[in-house]
Amino acid sequence: MVLYRKYRPQNLEELTGQTAVKIALSSAIKAGKLAHAYLFCGPKGTGKTSTARILAKIVNCQASNPPCGQCESCLAITAGTSLDVVEMDAASNRGIEDIRSLRENIKLAPSNAKKKVYIIDEVHMLTGDAFNALLKTLEEPPEHVLFILATTEVQKIPATIMSRIQRLDFKPASTDEVISALRKVVEGEKITIEETALLDLAKKAQGSFRDGIKYLDQLSALGKIDSSIVEQQLGSSSAEVRIKLLNSIATKDSSQALQLLNSVLESGLNPKEFNISLLDTLRYLLYIQQNLGTQLVKSEVSEEEFTQLTKLAADFSTEQLIEVLNNFQTSLEQARFATIASLPLEVAIVQSCLVKVEQSIPKTEKLEVSKDTDKVDTAENELEAVSQNGMNKTDLAVEIAEETPVQKDKVASDDIKKIQDKWAYILETVRQYNFSLEALLRTSQLSECNEKNVVIEVPYSFHQRIIEAPKSRELLESVFGDILGRKVKVATELGKRQVKREELANVEIAADDEIVRIAAEIFNNDGVN
Ligand SMILES: [Zn+2]
Repeated sequence: MVLYRKYRPQNLEELTGQTAVKIALSSAIKAGKLAHAYLFCGPKGTGKTSTARILAKIVNCQASNPPCGQCESCLAITAGTSLDVVEMDAASNRGIEDIRSLRENIKLAPSNAKKKVYIIDEVHMLTGDAFNALLKTLEEPPEHVLFILATTEVQKIPATIMSRIQRLDFKPASTDEVISALRKVVEGEKITIEETALLDLAKKAQGSFRDGIKYLDQLSALGKIDSSIVEQQLGSSSAEVRIKLLNSIATKDSSQALQLLNSVLESGLNPKEFNISLLDTLRYLLYIQQNLGTQLVKSEVSEEEFTQLTKLAADFSTEQLIEVLNNFQTSLEQARFATIASLPLEVAIVQSCLVKVEQSIPKTEKLEVSKDTDKVDTAENELEAVSQNGMNKTDLAVEIAEETPVQKDKVASDDIKKIQDKWAYILETVRQYNFSLEALLRTSQLSECNEKNVVIEVPYSFHQRIIEAPKSRELLESVFGDILGRKVKVATELGKRQVKREELANVEIAADDEIVRIAAEIFNNDGVN
């Protein structure tokens, strides 16, 4: 990591890529309108910490052209000895005590500099209590304080925090950007490397400057670097393995797929991260199948990868792909509770190899019982628009049909209508008793209503657990009972609809909130939430 530190960018101009971030920060600086708190989100090694330090220098530089890199303040920050720039890693200081002492510290004015800058890395690792304490500080930040929070997992940051900070997104670097960053190191360190090897190495870095420079550092010790050394020392990149693994799923070779997973995890990759990257790849395949590859995928991946993805997309039917996507979404959700970290992924792989290839189901009759007619209209309009673009109408129809409750019979549809008409009232009533239950209902939908049961379709088994908890059931059964004028039981079923990444994020946040709430109940502690 020594080389990475040595070649850290020292000002915003030196920061490779990240144009949006650079523009946002430089215009705020120029206008004298820096926010009091920033959240830098993005994958590892994309320059979040480097940018945080540059920003710390800019606000504290004593020269007229900040950051000068030469004044006392700039030098102290570069050396990591500045008393007014506090860097903490939330992974190791995640508790309430750490945040409390930080809050005490914040009250003190900066000793030398103009501003005290707090850089909190991996901020998603903070505990719920620590987040609450941090929130209080963010609500009334002293004038002399600048907060820079950084995270690789923005979906874990509570919404309450998000609303009080300015978010800046760091994108994975393109292969070209990694190459240009690596070239500086190659020249500065007089490393001998073949052009093709430099390209291979940059690809293996997968958008992370830090990884790229780390690899360069490792391999330069072996003398002249050529492509065979890169391949031999660094093995297959995660992108290559992902494509190979999905290829085995397409050919239903579960044992090969499991072996590939094993090798990935042995190389130290975190199962959850790998699961997310698999979902990303599957999503690309879905786009490519819907003829949106050039528009939405091509700019995100290397040319070689795009060719491989296009080939892979042709090996899956849309139904199969959606099943596989659902399997990996479920495994991601289950990862939270898994005792063996890799098990949910293993199950998803084997399950995906069992997916039957079926014919497309024709679109169901006019959807009368949908609780949200606007939504269906929009979906149908989209369908029209899409089919005009020459895409497969039937494939999309399947998704819409699945998303909409099917009318069982007349009585049931009357009951469903009764409940749907009162949906806002139901949410309002539930909200008074159980905040998170209401939030979950908003992402769920009515699936069936018969003499005895009201069935709610939920996107995750996590929702099922909450809705089926005795307290929630009791509440829902009494509300539905009032509306229908008879006793009913509440049941849930797991939906097949596709879930967006954003929704996934919300559920994780809801889950965190829920855990905080349960903890509060157990400890009867008013301080929590
Ligand atoms: Zn300076």
